[in-house]
Amino acid sequence: MQKICLLGATGSIGRSTLDVIAQYPDQFELVSVAANASVERMAEICHQFQPKRAVMGSKAARDQLASLCAGLPTQFEYGSESMESIASDDCDQVMAAIMGFAGLRPTLAGIRAGKRVLLANKESLVTAGRLFMDEVTKHKVTLMPIDSEHNAIYQCLPQSDSGVTKRDVDKVLLTASGGPFRTYSYDQMKTVTPAQACAHPNWSMGQKISVDSASLMNKGLELIEACWLFDVTPADVQVVVHPESIIHSMVSYKDGSVIAQMGNPDMKIPIAYGMTWPARIETGVEALDLFQVSQLNFEAPDLERFPNLKLASEAWYLGGTAMACLNAANEEAVAAFLKGQLSFLDIARLNQQVLERSDIKVVNDLEVVFEADEQSRVLAQQLIASEFS
Ligand code: NAD
Ligand code: MG
Repeated sequence: MQKICLLGATGSIGRSTLDVIAQYPDQFELVSVAANASVERMAEICHQFQPKRAVMGSKAARDQLASLCAGLPTQFEYGSESMESIASDDCDQVMAAIMGFAGLRPTLAGIRAGKRVLLANKESLVTAGRLFMDEVTKHKVTLMPIDSEHNAIYQCLPQSDSGVTKRDVDKVLLTASGGPFRTYSYDQMKTVTPAQACAHPNWSMGQKISVDSASLMNKGLELIEACWLFDVTPADVQVVVHPESIIHSMVSYKDGSVIAQMGNPDMKIPIAYGMTWPARIETGVEALDLFQVSQLNFEAPDLERFPNLKLASEAWYLGGTAMACLNAANEEAVAAFLKGQLSFLDIARLNQQVLERSDIKVVNDLEVVFEADEQSRVLAQQLIASEFS
């Protein structure tokens, strides 16, 4: 029996994880959950799974949840210390599926407690990079990438007892759907709405990652994520736009072989793989019907219309806090876009300005990362209120 702590239980990844857990009640036990504010959804989860501990983002949300769940054996808590506490409490695996930088501390708590960490929350790895990976090594943690592309790369790399190696690898081929605006002209992209940006052609996901997919910032974050996870640089990674999202990424080898991982686009596949690796279980996802797919297409990314991808690569080479600054700017930009305060194309402009104006520091401890995050958010807000209003 594997005991699971689920951070970000009420989100899209949270829902798919619960679906896998519910299919195998004799293999997985949900012992703790965390979410920010979705009290009603969290109450449903608590009634169904009866976890030992449930943590919300605020006292008000905790109190509301407790009253909706009166009589359950669950302990109801709130705040980031409790989120860190459940990640290091009695459990075997931590699913890190909180959205954004807010997931960093609880994810690190799971790593420091030596749990198997299932990493969906890419922003925590992107911002804390080297420190994050050093903790993984120090605590001998099995870090399973849940992001579908990185999970695919993991499946395509040579496997060892403790994970994967880079033996004989030439390049990592990171696929991208291209998002809902792949075929839009620059002029058409000027006026797109949040609803259009959130309507992803192949995946149903949370709002923030959906906007990131539309702006290709998601691919930028994933480029950095791949560099940290697999110990490569952006020069070793080729982004390949593949609109069908059937190939989830590939690895090319020095002998000319290319190995791809394919499947219907459903996050239950990478989630279940992360939970049971090196074994596999049935997920309930429909088998891939290649005759129905019939064609797979590939194209190069357009860095003119989607400059975020270039910015991510620049941030990697700048190093230090540059990736935390870019991520913070982007989180503020996406939130402002969703509120109608920023146009879609301004997301990348704002990201660029914040990155250019940030004082990049060497990361020798976590506090430096938190300071960079805070300063970049303030700068982004100032720019939104002045130059972008
Ligand atoms: P979502 O918006 O659907 O859910 C986010 C979850 O995080 C919710 O449970 C929310 O309550 C919680 N949360 C948000 N802010 C919080 C805070 N400050 N403190 C505590 N909890 C907080 O997002 P999602 O689509 O499930 O994505 C979650 C993470 O997984 C993101 O980092 C995303 O990039 C990554 N990811 C998602 C997908 C996908 O298919 N949805 C694929 C790959 C990676
Ligand atoms: Mg992905």
